Amino acid sequence: MRVGVIGAGATGLTAAYDLTRSGQEVVVLEAAHELGGLAGSLLIDQVPLERFYHHLFGTDRAIIELIGELGLADRLRFHATTTGIYHRGRLHAFSTPADMLRFSPLPLVDRLRFGLSSAAIKAVRHGERFNDVAALDWTRRWAGRRASSVIWEPLLAGKFGNRAAEISMAWLWARVHCRTFKLGYLDGGFAQLYTALAERVTLEGGKLEFGRKLSTISQAGAGRPVLVSTEDGSRYEFDRVLVTVPQPAFAKAVGADPQDSLWQNHYLGATCFVLELDRSVIPYYWLNVNDPEFPFLALVEHTRMIPPREYGGRHLLYVGNYVPRDDWRFVTPPEELLDRFAPFIRRINPDFDLSWVKRWHFSRSGFAQPVVTSAYRAWIPPHTTELPGVFLATMAQVYPQDRGQNYAVAMARKVVRDHLS
Ligand SMILES: Cc1cc2nc3c(=O)[nH]c(=O)nc-3n(C[C@H](O)[C@H](O)[C@H](O)COP(=O)(O)OP(=O)(O)OC[C@H]3O[C@@H](n4cnc5c(N)ncnc54)[C@H](O)[C@@H]3O)c2cc1C
Repeated sequence: MRVGVIGAGATGLTAAYDLTRSGQEVVVLEAAHELGGLAGSLLIDQVPLERFYHHLFGTDRAIIELIGELGLADRLRFHATTTGIYHRGRLHAFSTPADMLRFSPLPLVDRLRFGLSSAAIKAVRHGERFNDVAALDWTRRWAGRRASSVIWEPLLAGKFGNRAAEISMAWLWARVHCRTFKLGYLDGGFAQLYTALAERVTLEGGKLEFGRKLSTISQAGAGRPVLVSTEDGSRYEFDRVLVTVPQPAFAKAVGADPQDSLWQNHYLGATCFVLELDRSVIPYYWLNVNDPEFPFLALVEHTRMIPPREYGGRHLLYVGNYVPRDDWRFVTPPEELLDRFAPFIRRINPDFDLSWVKRWHFSRSGFAQPVVTSAYRAWIPPHTTELPGVFLATMAQVYPQDRGQNYAVAMARKVVRDHLS
């Protein structure tokens, strides 16, 4: 079979790898000029670093298996990282149950309630029971109003903005339940995984074409070829097509009616700075900024997980956000954005000065996080589509788990196994 794969992110590359190994003729069409999609990388002192902060959990079985298959297992290491919360002008350690019990913004009784309710989430084996429950309703009831307003509400509001109250508890359950304290990272970056996949695809005779932004997909009926066109005017004929791009790009390509369910799920965009600094800014790997006045959601100091010596001595700080595509933080030029963010970084570390920043990088993606409301589940499309030769494997079909490389790999392998082998 001649199979077209649209998108060279984690899903598309894993699918292309499995397809070429099973003897299919594969062409991957990618809009960008690089591999990896949301897990794509830039270079720091010649070492790849993800544009958006990335790590794995010990429970990420599918990707750990793939890393092993590609001969990269010795590069995957799990690190005991630290987490903090910035609340009302102060930093609080929040890495271990003992830290949570010492979390002074809450009275002891609320800390205990928070701890017990989190343990309960960990203990629940099947998150489906939370499908129709709003996360904030659950946390207010079981963690208590105060713990919910200090811990959960700022996190959900920071991530989902004015949709926070609609977010499903099933999604929050999966985030808490499936996560491990130790975080995994590939020494030398996840780019190695995507490069290895692309190399295997080409070695097996597959092709990767960059700068090919999907424009239309059509098929006159079962057994007829699937016709694909890209915005640069290229045209292709395939027996089967696997689409891994954001759902709206697929809906547009097949000319779905605006009322069609394909359009009903919404995504937020993401913006992220990588600051290359001559010193450390925060004492943790991950800092949740639980303050609605702040224009960013989290600071992630990557070099608290992987030492600065791996990046020519630079300390690397991500400043991350999820925002709608029309939000000022999505559209403001990055130089100006950094100037506007700097006073807030200084509130976290009063010594911080922009002169510490030796270089910076800015990345933006319009389709980075589906808005996982309680209604969301009903709109998740199946992997089969109205066109018999076209299959969909996209981030928005990952549920209730939070989207992630592991679920992209697992989904790609399942769709290839079930529909394309
Ligand atoms: C801020 C942030 C932090 C994250 N942190 C983590 C983490 O710590 N750990 C983790 O495992 N995951 C994390 N993720 C999620 C992870 O990056 C994604 O789940 C995963 O990369 C999704 O892969 P994908 O291939 O399904 O989608 P994508 O990565 O979106 O790939 C889709 C590909 O299709 C291409 N494309 C889009 N439109 C078109 C078109 N019209 N024509 C052709 N090509 C097109 C894109 O350029 C892209 O290459 C994070 C994501 C973000 C945004």
